[in-house]
Amino acid sequence: RTSLTDEDEIISRIGGAEVVLTNKTPISKETMDKCPNLKMIAVLATGYNVINYDYAKEKGIPVCNVPTYGTACVGQYAIALLLEVCHHIGHHDKTVHEGKWANHIDWCYWDHSLIELDGKTAGIIGFGRIGQTTGRIAKALGMKVLAYDPYVKELPEEFQSYVTLCGENEVISGCDFLSLHLPLNDETRNMISAPQLASMKAGAYVINAARGGIVNEKDLYEALVSGHIAGAAMDVSEVEPMAEENPLRTLDNVIITPHIGMYSKEAIGAVSLICA
Ligand code: NAD
Repeated sequence: RTSLTDEDEIISRIGGAEVVLTNKTPISKETMDKCPNLKMIAVLATGYNVINYDYAKEKGIPVCNVPTYGTACVGQYAIALLLEVCHHIGHHDKTVHEGKWANHIDWCYWDHSLIELDGKTAGIIGFGRIGQTTGRIAKALGMKVLAYDPYVKELPEEFQSYVTLCGENEVISGCDFLSLHLPLNDETRNMISAPQLASMKAGAYVINAARGGIVNEKDLYEALVSGHIAGAAMDVSEVEPMAEENPLRTLDNVIITPHIGMYSKEAIGAVSLICA
């Protein structure tokens, strides 16, 4: 395990250190209290929701993240998930390797309906670095782009000609593919729950390369089983590693990867360097 969950072990590993570097290992109030020398927490990631940063602030311990190392990589990954949802390349490759094509009566076959993105609408929630990168690639695929971000009052010039900045409900109900690119915090937890999923177009898709917990997984499961949401692709889960009993694992209209959106060799090199 590269990420620890046992509080006592986390405390003993930090010991008397003044600076702690973490990626997914949580640093709680108790850990901060029991590691009195702690003067700085550096997160080797963009999202810093594993740190109780309100308490760190109260104690005067600066928390630093690395906001830029994975922008290109995660934007590309969100689009990879989107393309996978449209073509199910992984599934078809696997069935060909298993011999299905070689033994097939027809010249070719496809096990899922395949989708063309040209003219479809991408809805992006969180139009920061990764959201913008994703929007840029979506545009190149011929998609219309709607974006919601309460902290972006005016679009950067580059996006003014093709991105429509609108309200949360408009983005959710107006898109064919919803892609999430916002942080997980008290304001955003369960932001995409049953009412939001119900307001999406019938047959729409949800892509989450941001954080588990932004989407309510139980509600997503029900929307997927009902068929109202046609499919989902997620690189993240509410509990990571994903819980064995997570029912999303049983659905074949869900593509799940183990939180690897930022792990290109280029981004891994950059994160350590920037942190240093
Ligand atoms: P960023 O700070 O540049 O952009 C986040 C945007 O979300 C900001 O523009 C912010 O205004 C917006 N936002 C905040 N609260 C919002 C809300 N309630 N509704 C809508 N928008 C809101 O960060 P980024 O580099 O674009 O990263 C975005 C997220 O992607 C990170 O917070 C992280 O959780 C996630 N991430 C995932 C991976 C992965 O491997 N899957 C890797 C890196 C980052």
